[in-house]
Amino acid sequence: MNLSRKDLLRLIGTGAGAVALGSAAASPAAGSEPRGAGDIVRDVAVIGGGAAGTYAAVRLRELGQSVVVVEHNGRLGGHTQTYTDPATGGSVDIGVVVWHDQPLVRQWFERFDIPLQKASFGGGETLYADYRTGREAAGYTPPNPGAALALYGEQLARFPYLEHGFDLPDPVPADLLLPFGEFVRRYGLDAVVPTVFQFGQGLGDLLRQPTLYVMKNFGSDILRNLQTGFLTTSRRDNSELYEKARTELGDDVLLNSRVLSTDRDGGRHAVVRVDTPAGRRTIRARKILVTIPPLLDNLDGFDLDGLERNLFGQFRNSAYYTGVLRDSGIPDNLSVRNVGLDTPHNLPELPGVYVISPTGIPGLHNVKFGSPVALSDRAVQAEIRASVRRLRDAGTVPTTNPGFATFASHTPFELTVPAAAVRAGFYRRLGALQGRNRTFYSGAAFHTHDSSLIWQFTETLLPRVVAS
Ligand SMILES: Cc1cc2nc3c(=O)[nH]c(=O)nc-3n(C[C@H](O)[C@H](O)[C@H](O)COP(=O)(O)OP(=O)(O)OC[C@H]3O[C@@H](n4cnc5c(N)ncnc54)[C@H](O)[C@@H]3O)c2cc1C
Repeated sequence: MNLSRKDLLRLIGTGAGAVALGSAAASPAAGSEPRGAGDIVRDVAVIGGGAAGTYAAVRLRELGQSVVVVEHNGRLGGHTQTYTDPATGGSVDIGVVVWHDQPLVRQWFERFDIPLQKASFGGGETLYADYRTGREAAGYTPPNPGAALALYGEQLARFPYLEHGFDLPDPVPADLLLPFGEFVRRYGLDAVVPTVFQFGQGLGDLLRQPTLYVMKNFGSDILRNLQTGFLTTSRRDNSELYEKARTELGDDVLLNSRVLSTDRDGGRHAVVRVDTPAGRRTIRARKILVTIPPLLDNLDGFDLDGLERNLFGQFRNSAYYTGVLRDSGIPDNLSVRNVGLDTPHNLPELPGVYVISPTGIPGLHNVKFGSPVALSDRAVQAEIRASVRRLRDAGTVPTTNPGFATFASHTPFELTVPAAAVRAGFYRRLGALQGRNRTFYSGAAFHTHDSSLIWQFTETLLPRVVAS
């Protein structure tokens, strides 16, 4: 989500049961099979330490379960990413920025003593330009979405179950399977498209996506928060949440680690073999909670059965990138947003820049870039530089050849399946995987790319994980 202030105005426990890494002791619930001296024995092995995995690990410990988190990056947080400028010490969140104002979110941050405030988005000026040519989109102003948002809300009210995972009725309503562009035409929702697009950064080709995914991303709690205000951290450092969770979880987190193999078949435990910086380790866990994008190549080494392989093999994904440009020449108070003057709903062509926006730190701008398919970091950076150059060549903004203070791919991003697969019951079968083969699932692929909603979803899943 990347909202300008103007857009908003317009729219008007404790670790009980944890066992130290390498200890031969196990929680009482974890069984008593023979094991190696260095084995890690836990109730739950959580794979992935982003929004879903970190939340689940902390909450499971509060619920008396022992856990270990396997995270392939050197930090927790996943799509939450904060850049700290070494020169000024200023920080800027270039990944997850806002959360819903709801009790679960407030309690989650209070738990780590992290103050929240209503998000206000930077201010400053916005210039609309077509990054394909670098030309200013003179005369373009986004439509006022007010009335259309009310109509959109009426449409959302037809599908209340979208707020909770993918518990879809059978048959799935045909409207949810329409490409979003057609849905918009059918119900006269044209004026909401730029707003939905802005929220749906990372969704790829918005107008072609089945309406299901768009409505899950831009759902009724988003509409509510547009009126009441989203939350963000007062200290402008959303990563603090994950650093504090990491400290609390201590040795129960394996960073820079990856799953080599799983064996979920025999005995009382699933066996997860993991490559860690300290060498190979064996985890014995009564259950596994998978929170990583469940793509086949990302599940390499998992002992997937035919059904799991079939379902996960149907996912395709979009791509999303974020970075900080240094000394681009773009004024510190200016956002340059990409639009297409000759495209449906003036949406920019992707792959392409979504927006280059101020960070609040002099000389630094955040750039967001999206693509329907994954591209190399190199190709994306080259295209961003070329886009900035075109602004200058067209005489729109006197830009320079900027460097990247930081750059990160947040790919794979949105995981989707074709409308025909949804119609054929894909999500019914996916939901039925919960608890099967000692394995549970959470994360964006099981709900939507929204931390607050993912925490809610995870919270409702945890009793089943504990009870199994
Ligand atoms: C630029 C950007 C801005 C966003 N802004 C917002 C926002 O303002 N508000 C909002 O609510 N949401 C926002 N989102 C959406 C965000 O994706 C979700 O909020 C949320 O972070 C998704 O949680 P997750 O647990 O599913 O995925 P992640 O947070 O990505 O967690 C998955 C974790 O698994 C790890 N992992 C992946 N593969 C493996 C593997 N094979 N082995 C081990 N570990 C692995 C990853 O490193 C990661 O830590 C934004 C996303 C991006 C990219």
